[in-house]
Amino acid sequence: MRVQWYAYLAFCLVVALLGWGAQATSDRDYYEVLGVKPSATQQQIKSAYRKLSIKYHPDKNPDDANATSKFSELAEAYGILSDEEARRKYDRFGKEGLNEHGRGSGGADPFDIFAQFFGGGGGGGGSFFGFEQQETQGPDLHIPLEVTLAELYMGHTVEYDVSKQVLCEHCHGSGAENPSDINTCTSCKGQGIKVVQQMLMPGFYQTMQSPCDVCSGTGKVIGTKCSRCHGNKVERTNEPLTVEITAGMPDRHRIAFERHADHSPEWDVPGSVVFHLRTRPHPRFTRDGNDLHLNYTISLLQALSGFETSFTHLDKTTRVDLKRPNAVTPPGFVQKIKGQGMPHFEEHSGVSADGAGDLYVHYTVEFPESVTSANRAILKTVLSATIKASNAIHDEL
Ligand SMILES: [Zn+2]
Ligand SMILES: [Zn+2]
Repeated sequence: MRVQWYAYLAFCLVVALLGWGAQATSDRDYYEVLGVKPSATQQQIKSAYRKLSIKYHPDKNPDDANATSKFSELAEAYGILSDEEARRKYDRFGKEGLNEHGRGSGGADPFDIFAQFFGGGGGGGGSFFGFEQQETQGPDLHIPLEVTLAELYMGHTVEYDVSKQVLCEHCHGSGAENPSDINTCTSCKGQGIKVVQQMLMPGFYQTMQSPCDVCSGTGKVIGTKCSRCHGNKVERTNEPLTVEITAGMPDRHRIAFERHADHSPEWDVPGSVVFHLRTRPHPRFTRDGNDLHLNYTISLLQALSGFETSFTHLDKTTRVDLKRPNAVTPPGFVQKIKGQGMPHFEEHSGVSADGAGDLYVHYTVEFPESVTSANRAILKTVLSATIKASNAIHDEL
């Protein structure tokens, strides 16, 4: 008995769903679709669309094919009823009348209408079941910044004046002299878009939207223009930015100042000012990652008899010892000095880290321009052993 009762209930449910599905694609009355009375105010129509479009959004009903048609139907109904002129025609002549009177809008993609509704001028920043309302961002401003190797070695601060566009100080980007000069566009009712409906064939309508030609899609018409920017809405200014170069930052490192680039009424927030570090070549030091390489010249005497000397590091104060006592240093010899390279910098955290790379000293040997005959005799005596040795090597080859 109980089984039969459930079966009957399931049967009724299927019939109801099928019936509703068929209805969704049929020519239902727009008021009925939104569940409002024909006398509904714009506010009631908006609130009905808000509630139902979220409820039937396909993202929220992935397993329900009916939701998609219901969602489209809601968008179509809202597109017409939210436009006073289209609504008047619809009230008098029905859907046929909309088409005959050249109203087409619509074709509007239901997702566009949805996005427009929740994204357009509604006091921003809302989040609906998981997807965040996108705020539009202006382009980034890229600035190459030349730094010396010493500045990267020690860390450095650069004051940089960025020339950029900001919203007009007087009208805050509206272009109007006074707030009372900003009027809602009567052509599009402040929507910025016009929704038109086109009949593809009897019973099938396509809704399309286009930016309003009267207000250029802004939804606003300006009375008296702003006296400061003459209606341009923006002006130029200089902003001093303090660029902190942390010790050890790599060449081509980017330092970004979010939301400091050009502003414009065309986007919600400005993009970033991005500085790109470029290392100016150093006459003696070169860099390879965290390691440094230094070319160091010694005399022939130092090369042959050993030496103890020192040089000044990139910070211009630290003395680094170079010691090769009692050792022969041939030209091109490389000596590694641990921990005297670039300070470590953690790219992901953007701060200096413990430790440093290594320093590689590349030796060049300076030979005398000439040798006196007396010295030549001495050198022959002293170096004859090495000549014999090298000849022996050549004989072997
Ligand atoms: Zn202005
Ligand atoms: Zn307009």
